[in-house]
Amino acid sequence: MSEFIRQHLIDPEICIRCYTCEETCPIDAITHNDDNVVVDASICNYCMDCISPCPTGSIDHWRVVRTAWSLEEQYEWDDLPEQEEFAEDSASELAEAFDDAANALIAEAHSGAGGRTPAPISAAQASVNLFGRSSPGIGTVQGNYRVTEAESESDVRHIIIGLGQTSFPVLEGQTVGVAPPGVKADGKANDIRLYSISSSRDGEKRNGNNISLTVKRETQGLCSNYLCDLVAGDQVELVGPFGNTFLMPNDPNANILMICTGTGSAPFRGFTERRRRAMPGANGEFVLYFGARTPGELPYAKQLGKLPATLLTQNLVYSREENQAQEYVQDRIQQHESFIQKMLMDENTHVFICGVKGMEKGVDEALTEICEHNSVDWQSQKASMRDAGRFHVETY
Ligand SMILES: Cc1cc2nc3c(=O)[nH]c(=O)nc-3n(C[C@H](O)[C@H](O)[C@H](O)COP(=O)(O)OP(=O)(O)OC[C@H]3O[C@@H](n4cnc5c(N)ncnc54)[C@H](O)[C@@H]3O)c2cc1C
Repeated sequence: MSEFIRQHLIDPEICIRCYTCEETCPIDAITHNDDNVVVDASICNYCMDCISPCPTGSIDHWRVVRTAWSLEEQYEWDDLPEQEEFAEDSASELAEAFDDAANALIAEAHSGAGGRTPAPISAAQASVNLFGRSSPGIGTVQGNYRVTEAESESDVRHIIIGLGQTSFPVLEGQTVGVAPPGVKADGKANDIRLYSISSSRDGEKRNGNNISLTVKRETQGLCSNYLCDLVAGDQVELVGPFGNTFLMPNDPNANILMICTGTGSAPFRGFTERRRRAMPGANGEFVLYFGARTPGELPYAKQLGKLPATLLTQNLVYSREENQAQEYVQDRIQQHESFIQKMLMDENTHVFICGVKGMEKGVDEALTEICEHNSVDWQSQKASMRDAGRFHVETY
């Protein structure tokens, strides 16, 4: 048995003391005094019923602890305590208890931005690690269709998963873990794989309590084939959500520069839906550089064709299109030197890079060259953007 527990907490700094959570909780785990509204760890069963009615998001906070904070301790708080760092010798136990392997995968995928980059300052608070392997969220497939041309070599699928009564709160840019059924050669359960959420926080269908994933079928890939073969009505085990840094800024003035290849477009579909639904009149630039081998292999090409230029500026580039010069995202970025330079120098600009491992190198070289032409050192500019939560990479 793990010595750790995941404790549900309410942020006293944000809570407006409306007591909606207390009224919603079906097992009376939430209570209050004159100061704070608090969750009793000895009663809470993680049903999540209280999460969505909360008008502020203050309800959605979690800490991994050895000993739960008492009600009396929580009544004293003006703000939430930091997550405690656990000693090395506890790490494997912690990993087993909370699927830390998935968090390690995320950290590795984000290493192109230099490790622990903070989230954009205006991003909403992400919930992470709510569902683990031993108690996954059960989703039901609502739809599964191909978003690359039928004749193309790349089979990429848009998979919609309904969450029924389960509260599985996600933000644009987060990932979920999928546990493919079955066991490995050593008899242990198959490892989970991570997939970016390609819908926005309010669902694939607005308020439909569902999410979408964008999955590329890999030859002989275990989980991608499992997911791509799912049909409506099939159940799928979801763990997570994961990731609390690669998040969309919640600021209509933010310039968002999105650079991706292949299924790296998945989080940006979520960003685009969010911008379309929540900030239709946003002032900030919203620009996509999206690379694929051919138009037929570019996920969501048809859907992108229907988006107005007032919402999203699209740069779709192809490296193997017949009768056309090879072009990669970094080539198009270089062509747009003055625009990119202006963006990079603007304190409202956030750069997000997502896709195949190694793509950040070409992009980095292009940005270095652009900056050099303008007497700017990209490496130090990048470092300051990264430290301010404005430069993010997710490659795998
Ligand atoms: C942060 C993050 C986000 C991600 N987001 C997405 C996303 O949005 N969409 C997406 O599609 N993927 C995404 N991935 C990748 C995803 O997690 C999986 O790695 C991917 O789907 C491959 O998993 P698999 O189980 O199908 O392949 P695995 O079974 O793990 O195989 C891995 C590779 O080995 C090859 N292979 C396996 N068995 C054999 C064999 N016997 N002979 C030869 N080759 C073999 C497969 O072709 C495959 O390329 C993400 C990864 C990370 C880390």
